[in-house]
Parts: sequence; structure tokens; C-alpha cells
Amino acid sequence: MKVIMLGAPGAGKGTQAVRVASAYQIPHISTGDIFRANIKGGTELGKKAKEYMDAGNLVPDELVCDLVVDRIKKEDCKNGYVLDGFPRTIPQAEALDKAVEAIGEKVDFAVNIDVPDEAIITRMSGRRACLTCGATYHIEYNPPKKADICDTCGSALVLREDDKPETVKTRLNVYHEQTQPLIDYYTGKNILVTVDGTQNMDKVFSDIKALLGE
Ligand code: AMP
Repeated sequence: MKVIMLGAPGAGKGTQAVRVASAYQIPHISTGDIFRANIKGGTELGKKAKEYMDAGNLVPDELVCDLVVDRIKKEDCKNGYVLDGFPRTIPQAEALDKAVEAIGEKVDFAVNIDVPDEAIITRMSGRRACLTCGATYHIEYNPPKKADICDTCGSALVLREDDKPETVKTRLNVYHEQTQPLIDYYTGKNILVTVDGTQNMDKVFSDIKALLGE
């Protein structure tokens, strides 16, 4: 099964993508995680991506598309995958379609996690991330066992540069301008399903599973 997760930054795409990947035993591919790993590793791609990410802007399509197209050709993707954070623009969606159609297949579902902007702003200011292992928490909805310490690796948790309120406002504007048009794009392809992302995480996940089928 090939699934795309759509939704504003902070809508819960990442959390749900991990669950979908585990339930359907397919790889979780997060472009944000790939860029963060490259930043940490000090690669050329990481250096280029960082300036866009820190400002709350999208990394240019040409730096993203080939990366994903190469990734989904790997052996572990033969039974499908969950794309988290890609596509984020119409040209990215077209590049994905082209790659998938080239092997005679299609994307099965685009899952839209719907959350109003006001709720997003409240949520993001409470997010905390571990820059060592990539785990994410929320001080209210998903707190670590010990305040500001990662449960998984014990590192200090931080408010990510791109989760700071000024950056969140830019990211929401970018989302409405560049990513929201994908809702119509996938509606037109009859593969869009929408869930209410303001519900608790378990309910959001059970709604997604009901739509995707067992
Ligand atoms: P995320 O973790 O998915 O919220 O991504 C964090 C940041 O990485 C975004 O705000 C963008 O700057 C960049 N990014 C991730 N995926 C993409 C993409 N598909 N296209 C452009 N930029 C991206």
C-alpha cells in the first residue's frame, strides 16, 4: 500500500505516519527526517536545506524530488510505503506520480489530517524534539517521562528552530499557499481521505485505519 500523509505542520502527520507504517509493515519515509539527518551529518544537502528549514520555507523541489524518487525504488519499498512530508507542492506530486506510473502502479491513499490553524499554533509551541535520536514529544499531549529529557536516549529536549511561533506562522502561510492545493489534486484523483486531526492520537489513528482498510 502506498500512502501519502497530508496536513499542516503540526497536524500530527509524523506521529500517524509512524503508526501506519508499523500497522501495515511498510517503510516510513519522512523528508523532514532525511533533511535533519543530513544537517546533523554536515552533508552538502544538509547545508543547503538548513537555511530554508530554519526560515520556515520549503526546500526547493529540485533538492527533494530526486531524493524521494530514488528512495522509493529501494527493495524495502516493493510492498509500499508511507510518505510523510512529501509531496508538499504540485510539482512534487507530479514527480511522484510520474515515478509511480513508470512502474505501472499508483498511490493508493492521500490521508489529509485536518486541524485548524489556531489549534496548530497552540500545539507547536508545546512541541519538544530530541536532536540526537529524532524522537518528538509534546509537553501536554505526549510528555517525556522526565521533563525535557528524551525517553529513548536521555538527551536534552529542545524547541526546534522551525517550531518557534514566528516560524510556525510562516510555515502555515507556506502550507496554505503551496501544499493545500494538493487536497484538490488528490480529490481529483479520487484517493483523498480526510480525518479530524483535533481528536486524540488513538482516535485519529483508528479513523485512518478504518479508511485504509485492514
Ligand atoms: P517536517 O519535519 O516534515 O515538518 O519538515 C521540516 C522542514 O523540512 C519543512 O518545513 C521544510 O523546510 C523541509 N521539507 C520537508 N519536506 C519537504 C518537501 N517535501 N519539500 C520541501 N521542503 C520540505
